[in-house]
Amino acid sequence: MATVLPAPVEALRELLEKLPGIGPRSALRILQSLLRQPTLQVQLAEALTQVVEKVAPCTYCGFWAEGPQPVCAICADPARDEPILCVVKEAGDVLAIERSQAFRGRYHVLGGVLDPLAGIQEKDLRLAPLWDRLRRDGYQEVILALGTSPEAETTAYYIARQLADWPGRITRFASGIPVGSDLEYVDPLTLSRSLRERQPFSV
Ligand SMILES: [Zn+2]
Repeated sequence: MATVLPAPVEALRELLEKLPGIGPRSALRILQSLLRQPTLQVQLAEALTQVVEKVAPCTYCGFWAEGPQPVCAICADPARDEPILCVVKEAGDVLAIERSQAFRGRYHVLGGVLDPLAGIQEKDLRLAPLWDRLRRDGYQEVILALGTSPEAETTAYYIARQLADWPGRITRFASGIPVGSDLEYVDPLTLSRSLRERQPFSV
């Protein structure tokens, strides 16, 4: 079906539909709202440009950071002195755990989990920087908080096996996190409880 939309609007509509959770109807609602608000259009374009130009993964942990040698707010905070490293799948998981206010260590964002069917292998994840940090930075515990999907489990086992000779503790969240869920959907109270009651990760 030929579109009746002007080409720039059609292009924007197609882009909006690529975003997670936005189907054709939501895309249309966002379009209508944007086209009514020229100021918002400009602000949104400017904000996107700023993100494109300035935001990059933190040199240490992979979380969102800013600058040519990006260091995130968490890695830059000297008060985050618990010698515990929490390994998560995505940057959004950092926010989920931060919301629980139950963790004062640092994070390591893997950037995904091993998924052979989707073609995601060891080299596609931030594993080499993880080994480096654990060798170098004096952490005493690694929490594997990758979620509970089969791919996340496989990845956690892979990491735990690679760390067999590492002297620190390897732990995971206590049960209470529903199977296959992503951390961002877990409420802060449940998350802080399963963090407090974390258990040894046995290979
Ligand atoms: Zn960082």
